[in-house]
Amino acid sequence: MTVTAQAIPMLTDNYSWLLREDKAGKTGIVDPAEAAPAIAVLEAAGLGLDFIFLTHHHPDHVGGAEALRERYGAQIIGNRADAHRLPRLDVPVHEGALVEFGAANARVIEVSGHTLGHIAYYFADGGLLFAGDTLFSMGCGRLFEGTPQQMFDAIAKFAELPDETMLCCGHEYTASNVRFALSVEPENQALRARAEEVAALRARGLATVPVSLGRERATNPFIRAASVAEFAERRAAKDNF
Ligand code: ZN
Ligand code: FE
Repeated sequence: MTVTAQAIPMLTDNYSWLLREDKAGKTGIVDPAEAAPAIAVLEAAGLGLDFIFLTHHHPDHVGGAEALRERYGAQIIGNRADAHRLPRLDVPVHEGALVEFGAANARVIEVSGHTLGHIAYYFADGGLLFAGDTLFSMGCGRLFEGTPQQMFDAIAKFAELPDETMLCCGHEYTASNVRFALSVEPENQALRARAEEVAALRARGLATVPVSLGRERATNPFIRAASVAEFAERRAAKDNF
């Protein structure tokens, strides 16, 4: 693989992701909530930082971006449509744009719902999807700005990606999500197996992500919703779960 990802825990339950491209030796970070934990990881590995990929404007996804740009001269990438509420963008992007990352590239997928102008990044070389707060393991983001229809359509855009794609999301919400998912589909065997795995991982303080889209397709009640109405009903139920 040309591109690999490593989770960096930030704040209470955020994950930022360190990206390494091994042909040209580029380094990137996705959604740095804070600068300090990223600097610690980069220093320990003796790395600089070339790119900062932002998915959406929430402070727990952009909080460390300016400080990291200042320290490393990294370029900040984000949705040009949201430029007014993101840190100053060095590389404004849009739906379908290909962002060069050394010998690899990231495809920008616009996924409004959690916020309007939320984007995801898909690295075909490496099979990595950075979905921000759109899709979580067995969950999805709250609808702060978009409609159920928009979020349903956003998640449907991921349907074209291979099962082996690894979902790298913005939060460790899996333990709570799996309880809700089991309430929706108590007899789903793949879900029950995943629930056991998640309990074991969390008991050891380990991350439950990344997780493959194939497993999410078998377990995530929001991917599995058959219609916008069913999706909206599940999202509303989860909000009050
Ligand atoms: Zn958010
Ligand atoms: Fe968030």
